[in-house]
Amino acid sequence: METQTIERTDTDERVDDGTDSDRPKHFHYVKKDKIAESAVMGTHVVALCGEVFPVTKAAKPGSPVCPDCKRIYASLKKS
Ligand SMILES: [Zn+2]
Repeated sequence: METQTIERTDTDERVDDGTDSDRPKHFHYVKKDKIAESAVMGTHVVALCGEVFPVTKAAKPGSPVCPDCKRIYASLKKS
């Protein structure tokens, strides 16, 4: 009998992608433990959509979410 290992994604959080403030900001879904690591080490994180950026701050409620992240996150939640 095979054992299935499914990676849980329910620890994902939205984070600012750190782009300039004169453009509408999108927030990406990133693994929570990666956010903590980035905040401490200054490393870049990889969002669900594949965007790579250093974490600057957490998303504010009501902020627009990256459409790609949103779609991927929704499809992951369904399974
Ligand atoms: Zn994204």
